[in-house]
This record gives sequence, C-alpha cells and structure tokens, in this order.
Amino acid sequence: MKYFGAHVSASGGVYNAPLNAIKIGAKAFALFTKNQRQWNAKALDNKTIDLWFLNLEKSKIETKHILPHDSYLINLGHPDNEAREKSLNSFIEEVQRCEILALDKLNFHPGSHLREISEDECLDNISDSLNRVLDKTSGVKLVLENTAGQGSNLGYKFEHLAYIIDKIEDKSRIGVCIDTCHMFTAGYDIRTKETYDKTWDEFGKIVGFEYLSGMHINDSKPPLGAKVDRHDSLGAGQIGWDAFRFLANDSRMNDIPLILETIDESIWAQEIETLYSFIN
Ligand SMILES: [Zn+2]
Ligand SMILES: [Zn+2]
Repeated sequence: MKYFGAHVSASGGVYNAPLNAIKIGAKAFALFTKNQRQWNAKALDNKTIDLWFLNLEKSKIETKHILPHDSYLINLGHPDNEAREKSLNSFIEEVQRCEILALDKLNFHPGSHLREISEDECLDNISDSLNRVLDKTSGVKLVLENTAGQGSNLGYKFEHLAYIIDKIEDKSRIGVCIDTCHMFTAGYDIRTKETYDKTWDEFGKIVGFEYLSGMHINDSKPPLGAKVDRHDSLGAGQIGWDAFRFLANDSRMNDIPLILETIDESIWAQEIETLYSFIN
C-alpha cells in the first residue's frame, strides 16, 4: 500500500492538520508541531491534545503515516558549542512534543558546517547530538533528510547519511527521509528507469532500505546536480512524471509517509489523485 499526502497547515493548532489532510484525499501527512521559524513555543495544552486525538481518529490516518518536521532554526552540526547546545535543547523539546502527540517519527535536516569546520567534524557533531537526544527521549525515530547541498548543508550524499547512522548507538531509532527534489539537485538522477534503478541501488548499498522511513515527493526547478533547493509541482519541473510513476509502483516505498512539499497547494488533491492513478 502507498500512503501519499502533503505537508499540511497546522495553523490555529496541530489538531487542524489531520482535517486539512483528509480534505485533499491524503492518506499521510506532514506538519510542524510548532512555529518552524521561532525558537520558543507554548506547551501543548490539554484541549489541543484532546482535539488532536479526536481529529486524528476522524481522519483514519495512522500515526506511522505522519511525518512531523522540525524547526528550520535547528542545526545539530553547528560549529559553535553554545549554539549547538541551543539547537539540541530545542530539538529535544520537539521530540517531546511528538511523544505527547503519539507521533513515532521526527524529520529533520542533518546540519550545516557554516564553512567553519570540516564536513566530517560537522557529521560527528550531528551524530553526537543525536545520541544525546536518543538518551533523553523514547519512542520517536529521528529521521534524517537528504539535502540538495545548498550552502553548507550536509546530507546531500548518501554517504553522509550512512556516516551518521553508523555512529548512532540505537539504530532502531534512526531513519532517513529521501526528498526527490533534493536527491535530484544533489546529482542523483531518477528520470529514466535506468537512472532510477541505479540511484536506488546505490541508496540500498550505501544507506539501506531498512532505514527508509518516509519520502518528500517534489519535482525540481533547478537541473540535475545544481545543488539548489527549489521545489516544483509534479511533472512541471526538471524531473518529470516518469520518476513518480516508477515510485508509485516501487514496493520499497510501501507503508511509509510519501509527502508532497510541492509549491501549489491548490493542486495537492489532484497530485495525490494522479499518484494513486499510476499504481498498476
Ligand atoms: Zn523535504
Ligand atoms: Zn527542499
């Protein structure tokens, strides 16, 4: 079974997200559990929590098909100790919000070296931070997202993801989310059956499908290898429909959240319908 959905709005309260998801025919969704551009958030109150579980039940979407995304401010690889500590504490709070909402995953971008330390030092900072988060929390899998490699963001090579995973003590609580736009602009082609198979073979060998915990389904405005992160609507960008047709029929992506972060919300319902229509 495929579980397609989108990163829906949680404005007004996290409990609005499941309702926004079913409005577009989604069987999965992503959300921010707090404002993604602010450090602080008020604690989840009882009314919010009750409404969340009520609406979630209404939506019939299972928590394993929900992929919350962390704040954009967090950098677990930050070269500066104090700044990294701030990110770590904020990240722990986000994991705790997931625990309260019975969410079993949290999706995040690995981190950035800000051109002050080497890639390896930054990756070590990230894995150290993650081990500390895992120590202090329970029940939530930390899901590393591959990046486009824009600026000094790490995670644009499968090897980066594998390097971090290798250093994680509890491997049952680490996963990856592959974003098709990021993958493509990082230089991994998926446009033809041949390139699609080659790229995913490489993923299987370097990272391993047992870690694939979710995907972001986006077309890309920039061309292959541009290392620029600009999403496009499916079929409208440089990747094109074929890659998404292959994906819809690839059993390795069964039973995980497959989330649109495409640029035109008004056609999400249509994009989800098209993705389902591809399944043979
Ligand atoms: Zn993404
Ligand atoms: Zn992106």
